[in-house]
Amino acid sequence: MNCYHPAETWSREEIEKAQTMRLKHSVQAALASPFYSRRFSSLGITAETIKSSESIRDIPFTTKNDLRSGYPFDFLAVPKEDLVRLHASSGTTGSPVTICHTRADLNAWADLMARCMHMVGVRKSDIFQNIAGYGLFTGGLGIHAGAERLGCLTIPAGAGNTRRQIKLIQDMQVSVLHIIPSYALYLGGVVRDMGLDPRELPPRIALIGAEPHTEEARQRIELLLGLKAYNSYGLSEMNGPGVAFECLGQNGMHVWEDAYILEIINPKTLEPVPDGEVGELVLTTLCRRGMPVLRYRTSDLTRVIPEPCPCGRVHRRIDRIMGRADDMLIIKGCNFYPMQVEQILLSFPEVGQNYLILLELEGDMDQVCVQVEIREEYFVEDVRALTKLQKRIAHRLRDEILFTPKVELVQANTLPKQEGKAVRVVDRRNKGQ
Ligand code: ADP
Ligand code: ZN
Repeated sequence: MNCYHPAETWSREEIEKAQTMRLKHSVQAALASPFYSRRFSSLGITAETIKSSESIRDIPFTTKNDLRSGYPFDFLAVPKEDLVRLHASSGTTGSPVTICHTRADLNAWADLMARCMHMVGVRKSDIFQNIAGYGLFTGGLGIHAGAERLGCLTIPAGAGNTRRQIKLIQDMQVSVLHIIPSYALYLGGVVRDMGLDPRELPPRIALIGAEPHTEEARQRIELLLGLKAYNSYGLSEMNGPGVAFECLGQNGMHVWEDAYILEIINPKTLEPVPDGEVGELVLTTLCRRGMPVLRYRTSDLTRVIPEPCPCGRVHRRIDRIMGRADDMLIIKGCNFYPMQVEQILLSFPEVGQNYLILLELEGDMDQVCVQVEIREEYFVEDVRALTKLQKRIAHRLRDEILFTPKVELVQANTLPKQEGKAVRVVDRRNKGQ
């Protein structure tokens, strides 16, 4: 194993020993924040009550609402003058939360990020283009720092302006990209529209993440752009990217357990679920000093992959994120996640790069309309062929989500495109109220 950081080769015993020690330190540090000092003092939690990494179960969960109500400074565990950076979550599910970092926190984060990139073969000699929003979003500066730490020539391209992105990729002979999956598919389409073959573009690796996507989407990105795409998971509350990352095996993401404690709980009972079972991911920072966050309920649904990873790292792997607990749709008595729809849609070669799930009212009944872009070469076909395709898609969707949604085939590049995370579901049921 060619490693960036010695912790990558640690055994389970070494990881657990470090976790216990670091959890003690984290609790100690957290006690300096108004939020955790209030919470822990009533429960009698101190660094001394942490006997092993199992003691984490005595610590109450921290929720997004806790972070929101503690906005802006209730979670700070060091004097403000020791903080050097503030980031915020994207606000996908409501008002954003802010996270502050010390210089040491940023340093540790850059190291984690560099470790992730090194794991998939990014090296000093690479030219790296970061196609992510800079500013409060952690995918900008967070990944940037990791690439610079590795020594890559790093291009802070930012989000949007697709033609300029493509020109930079070509002119600078960019070898590695960081790009949100929905945007990677869009960018590939634009290259095609320019009359070029996206597979001829220089990049050999793409780091993709920040939003849920299916294995089908990854394979499309790889085929379309002629590169290897690796899943990158993180959230602002835990720094941002650098929490969990796929290795060359491309089968689940290793969570860096020397820096985070990973738990999967049943979101209803809040009890741990056995390895292999899907539940809500709960994470604890072990090394952050500016703003430690303990047992954070991410709302992201995943499972631990119990089998050992062929790469040799024993940091446990989590499966691709299914979505957030609140992404679940309940329509006509059937529960499903948008990613189940994506999985079906992208398995059709006729389907283009974008789709949208519309929730509508038909009389008093909820109805789902799936709008899906069809690739140019299929859209010109006769109406009968298109109707047949529409029916085939609707049938396959019914098999997956257990009712038949309406399916609308639309021309390529006609559905709205976001610069950041894709919006997959639009709820029109309350329109006009
Ligand atoms: P927000 O929660 O407001 O979107 P962040 O920018 O911090 O703010 O995004 C973190 C969230 O993005 C995660 O909690 C998760 O839901 C999603 N996410 C990040 N990376 C991935 C990934 N690789 N796969 C699926 N979802 C991801
Ligand atoms: Zn591995």
